[in-house]
Amino acid sequence: MTQPFLMMMLGVGNGFCKSTYHNNALIDAQGRLFLIDCGAMAWQSLHEIGLGFEDIEGIFITHLHYDHCGGLDEAALYGAYAAGRKLKLWLPSPLNGVIWEKYLSGTLENKVEGRVSLEDYFDVHWVEEGESFSFSAGSSAGLTARWLQTLHVPAKFSCSLIMDNRFFYSSDMQADTGLLCSLLDQGIDTFYHDSSFTYNPVHAGFEELCRYPEEIRNRLYLMHYGEVPADKPEHELQGMKLLRQHEWLAW
Ligand SMILES: [Zn+2]
Repeated sequence: MTQPFLMMMLGVGNGFCKSTYHNNALIDAQGRLFLIDCGAMAWQSLHEIGLGFEDIEGIFITHLHYDHCGGLDEAALYGAYAAGRKLKLWLPSPLNGVIWEKYLSGTLENKVEGRVSLEDYFDVHWVEEGESFSFSAGSSAGLTARWLQTLHVPAKFSCSLIMDNRFFYSSDMQADTGLLCSLLDQGIDTFYHDSSFTYNPVHAGFEELCRYPEEIRNRLYLMHYGEVPADKPEHELQGMKLLRQHEWLAW
């Protein structure tokens, strides 16, 4: 049975974009709020719509880039010292041994207070590829999800999410026609997709997305684009649609 949910982009920009923030998403699953990624501008973006740490139940991280996880140390410190609460943190298993050891320990380790691991700051849930987990809190059934590894920066882990077996969220990834066709065959009917209007070797170029089959383009929602170039009218998007920052859509 499908579970309706709401999704809002906290930003639709790339890592350098100051106007439309970072490409992170807010999910409303049965009235509980979750983040897909928590970049350096995530908490500012939430603040601008009247939300904060207390409103968020948990976070899923797709990969280790500052525009996707640069807000985690703020979440950890606020949770430990201001809110007295640990957020749920769902992490792809390949980040085990990396996210704390190579990224967060430098800022968060506090041996005097005994805060020496990720678990001292978050309610951590490691998730294997393809394993089903649920964006849920309390007794709610929540929203089922699973991750699959996708190509972003070569030789660096990154993943996408499938929710409710019908909704694909690419996070950062290069264009991949074979994957998208396969997902469509598996019953995925909505695609939130990385996009870039200028050439970028580790993101999906708009011209590449235009070469996806029409059946996919008509189900494709663009994110990460930052700002639409002045010479790119929206009626030239080849059936694809632009996601807007801070706009709820129901799925
Ligand atoms: Zn990235």
